[in-house]
Amino acid sequence: MDRDGLRVNARRLQRSLESLARIGATADGGVDRLALTDADRQARDALVAWLDRLGLRITIDDMGNIFGLRAGRDEGVRPVMMGSHLDSQSRGGRFDGALGVMGALEVMRVLEESRVVTERPVILAAWTAEEGSRFTPSKLGSAVWAGDLDKEWVWGRPDRHGATLLEELERIGYKGVSPCARWPFQAYYELHIEQGPLLEAAGRAIGVPAGIVSLHVYDVHVSGEANQVGPTPMEGRRDALVAAAEMVLAVRALPSTAGGDMVATVGMLEVAPNCYNVIPEDVHFTVDLRGWDEALVERSWERLAGEFRGVAARHGCRLHAEESSRTGRTEFDPGLMRRITDHAEALGLSTMSLVSGAGHDTAHLAGVGPTAMIFVPSIGGRSHTPAEETGWADCAAGADVLLRCILEASGTSGD
Ligand SMILES: [Zn+2]
Repeated sequence: MDRDGLRVNARRLQRSLESLARIGATADGGVDRLALTDADRQARDALVAWLDRLGLRITIDDMGNIFGLRAGRDEGVRPVMMGSHLDSQSRGGRFDGALGVMGALEVMRVLEESRVVTERPVILAAWTAEEGSRFTPSKLGSAVWAGDLDKEWVWGRPDRHGATLLEELERIGYKGVSPCARWPFQAYYELHIEQGPLLEAAGRAIGVPAGIVSLHVYDVHVSGEANQVGPTPMEGRRDALVAAAEMVLAVRALPSTAGGDMVATVGMLEVAPNCYNVIPEDVHFTVDLRGWDEALVERSWERLAGEFRGVAARHGCRLHAEESSRTGRTEFDPGLMRRITDHAEALGLSTMSLVSGAGHDTAHLAGVGPTAMIFVPSIGGRSHTPAEETGWADCAAGADVLLRCILEASGTSGD
């Protein structure tokens, strides 16, 4: 058999993505498929049915992660893995996560219909609760699998109505019997949309990220003094919101002077008492700093914290700022990255190296074995919105690269 001639079925991949997108579809063309909701259950049911039709060995662990294993000639060796997630943001798009799972399913279908015999087992993985929008933090299924988070703690995570992850896992019938725990693997590949504008702007087909940027999140509390706005003169006010507003602008200005590829964002802000006729007394906001250069991110935060102290003092406010979470940068395996580039170029696809500004399940897998990701262009760089879009040909191109990488890693291309 000419394995170099194998290609994914682009129309079949499109149909899989379209039928998955109907589960939890929103009127504006997006997807609302929060983790462990009824829509998530339907998506899982569909995946399990598709895997079952291929005759794969299906395992669901007690974190709800779904695995489909296709046996290799040798059962005693490390498997090759590929996957992503089925859950979405509450107003998410049709490709984030879905492409990685449907792309892996398409690879399985090609292996099956072409009767490819691999040396190593090949496993498709669909990880639970990647998005972090219903249960926090994000990437829970892969984090527990990799041993980076404690399962009991994750089971107890509540959504905003108080339902725990474990209750919801049981409610939708996806608390499997096998304990969620890592196993060694030969290679793990995740196909994903870029979620940024770089590939489209450069006119490249395939992105090869060197890794995922480090992410530092800080909680900032500013306290002033509440008072009736009418009788209180402007002079001498201790307005926590005005101080916070200056701090937000300092965050916005930071990357342009810090250098590197850092991005800085205030995405959440709470005001108390949040009333039109009371001077704001307390403000809580978050600062999200991301960059490839970890030391630069740390230095930048120290500089920012110094500016915050100056602003708070000028407004007569108290300041409390602390780090709430930190994820070190993830570096992907250079060998796997090179293979993605080589296979893409052999397929006539242009490539580009970049780094991922968004977190992915692969970050946790990277602590267990060699990993890499395959990015395809996001139209307009849009993601986590119903406007998220990727061309069907680009989806197929990414899946073709995934197929080649899996064929090679599972021991079929050399014999
Ligand atoms: Zn994703």
